Amino acid sequence: MDTQLYDTVIVGGGPAGLNGALYLGRSRRRVLLVDSGDARNMAAGVMHNVLTNDGAPIADFRARARAQLDSYDVTFRDDEVVSAESGGDHVVVTAKESGTVRARTLLYAAGVRSVLPPVPGLAPLWGKAVFECPYCHAWEVRERRFAVYGGGVPSECLASTLTVWSDDITYLADGRALPEDEQDRLTAAKVPVLTEGVRELRPHPEGLEVVFADGRTASYGAMFLHLDIEPRVAPLRPWLQAPDLESVQTDDRGRTSLPRLYVAGDLGRNMQQAAMAAASGGLAAMAINADLIREDRPGSLPEPPPPAPAR
Ligand SMILES: Cc1cc2nc3c(=O)[nH]c(=O)nc-3n(C[C@H](O)[C@H](O)[C@H](O)COP(=O)(O)OP(=O)(O)OC[C@H]3O[C@@H](n4cnc5c(N)ncnc54)[C@H](O)[C@@H]3O)c2cc1C
Repeated sequence: MDTQLYDTVIVGGGPAGLNGALYLGRSRRRVLLVDSGDARNMAAGVMHNVLTNDGAPIADFRARARAQLDSYDVTFRDDEVVSAESGGDHVVVTAKESGTVRARTLLYAAGVRSVLPPVPGLAPLWGKAVFECPYCHAWEVRERRFAVYGGGVPSECLASTLTVWSDDITYLADGRALPEDEQDRLTAAKVPVLTEGVRELRPHPEGLEVVFADGRTASYGAMFLHLDIEPRVAPLRPWLQAPDLESVQTDDRGRTSLPRLYVAGDLGRNMQQAAMAAASGGLAAMAINADLIREDRPGSLPEPPPPAPAR
């Protein structure tokens, strides 16, 4: 067992965890960052909308962030955290390979998983020709023919938003009967609907090909769709005892109703974007630093504002 008492263990080495480590390292805190290396956006290969890193390979971005953290008291472990629980005046964090460590606080920034609909052929095209976020990916395929998949999570607002990037958009309902308001928005956006079932997707030189249930095919430059997400909170059970982290997050700095547990990134209350995730990691780090000062020097800082209800 690692006998050090860290100021903070950070779970997750994406933009949220890395920026949290930077703020805490520069605050002279002793930090351990544990990361299992499978970021949500890895399928895309590169990232956009991050100043000075627009189009940067995700692996390079992470490697450069880690290299800059070398100047501070931040230790990295490439490992998977399997449990994190309260030990009273500290937290106890256990990773698969490297075992158990103790820390005064836990910054949980493990992200979420995108849940893809069970359309055959969609998964291999995810991040390459099938996307969720127009701000991240639509520029690269602008003015091409888009399909918006509406057979799972309703995606009509996504279709309307995409009219900025293409005026040739088709909404694929994949056999789902659209409620009136969904149909009305598509009509207002001038996006036609195809109701036929989708049998499979295939790679195509233009982007992708859709094979419909009746065997007809159509090619598109890209497909967009809204997805369900799955918060990566398994290691926090049973400490969490709540359906999700959002229900225990109490303020916009990542504090939670569970003492010593902070949350940042896609798991928190921000928009799910890399720059927002990084910003929330910085905010949570500042909250942690202030709360540790409060603990070490009681009365030296005012108490944080009372918890706000989850939005
Ligand atoms: C295909 C795709 C493309 C995207 N492109 C863009 C884009 O171009 N620009 C943009 O701004 N946003 C983009 N996003 C959104 C962006 O990826 C997220 O908003 C951002 O990565 C969130 O950062 P995060 O630090 O919260 O989580 P993540 O980046 O997902 O990092 C979480 C980290 O925690 C680790 N982890 C999880 N569980 C454990 C555990 N138990 N133990 C140890 N480590 C663990 C994971 O391995 C991962 O490295 C994209 C998303 C997708 C799905």
